[in-house]
Amino acid sequence: MIQITLPDGSKRQFDAPLTVAEVAQSIGAGLFKAALAGKVDDKLVDTSYRITQDAAVAIVTEKDAEGLDIIRHSTAHLLAYAVKDLYPEAQVTIGPVIDNGFYYDFAYKRPFTPEDLEKIEARMAELARKDEPVLRKVLPRDEAVDYFKSLGEHYKAEIIASIPAGEDVSLYSEGAFTDLCRGPHVPSTGRLKVFKLMKVAGAYWRGDHRNAQLQRIYGTAWAKKEDQDAYLHALSEAEKRDHRKLGKELDLFHFQEEAPGLAFWHPKGWALWQAVEQYMRQVYRDSGYQEVKGPQILDVSLWKRSGHWDNYSENMFFTESEKRQFAIKPMNCPGHIQIFNSGLRSYRDLPIRYGEFGSCHRNEPSGALHG
Ligand SMILES: [Zn+2]
Repeated sequence: MIQITLPDGSKRQFDAPLTVAEVAQSIGAGLFKAALAGKVDDKLVDTSYRITQDAAVAIVTEKDAEGLDIIRHSTAHLLAYAVKDLYPEAQVTIGPVIDNGFYYDFAYKRPFTPEDLEKIEARMAELARKDEPVLRKVLPRDEAVDYFKSLGEHYKAEIIASIPAGEDVSLYSEGAFTDLCRGPHVPSTGRLKVFKLMKVAGAYWRGDHRNAQLQRIYGTAWAKKEDQDAYLHALSEAEKRDHRKLGKELDLFHFQEEAPGLAFWHPKGWALWQAVEQYMRQVYRDSGYQEVKGPQILDVSLWKRSGHWDNYSENMFFTESEKRQFAIKPMNCPGHIQIFNSGLRSYRDLPIRYGEFGSCHRNEPSGALHG
């Protein structure tokens, strides 16, 4: 006897082990059709997952946040499936879910073009319409490595080889396409109806610019067409208000190659900046903050004490003078701590609140600027 406890606290008894899909079916045909995945004792699983002992079970549908994530994640696989179908020499790497969608990184001999994206998106729709089941299979690690090597998928083989030896890995197949994945996934590709490929960008294998360059395709996916339309509408509205576009149109500021990510403020823009700064100054005062100003450049010994050196130095700019190493501040707070430390304080002075209109500089990869 297996006892299933549902989210509303009700209990159901079953004579034999059964799948999440069968639990959904026992509750109702509508829920069975809507089921994207399941939650068994709080663990997300496929609808094909077999329950062999008493458990708390919830059926995940598109109405759940997890359901939407599963749709996006499964759409990333569908994208890889379509790319492999159209460009068999492309190698797959990883394809995580991100805000509002997903991306997938491919190794390919040339960048994908907007025309490629159209073709890929159309192929995804075709493959989704075939409504092929998404099947899970578990293999010993080394067998999985051999399998992907035999397909010429060297990146995938490398990822799997980094999983501890002796561990099993799960693979998901839809049609002719198999990918390494923890899952869970939608039960079949027909559940993926609303998606759009957004753009392609360069990326590096394992995020390291010394490694091979990859082609990253971004996409968005939703449970309902209206949701996607609303999202795309909001994006186009935001584009009209893009600061780079407005800055140029209104003659507020400009960027140029010699100062990546740093604005040249024009008279009108700087007047606007001043107005905003004065407003913020008043908000600071009203909220009990005292304005201070720390140095722009500080000896690295201070950044070692603050912990920035250990945790953040790859994101900092450094400079040298008289055999001393300095860093340009990436944050204001270490300067404020020096101001606090400069004299004796009493608990009666607390709370002390400092604020600064400081300029912080961070040494980030150029790709980080536009997200
Ligand atoms: Zn997956």
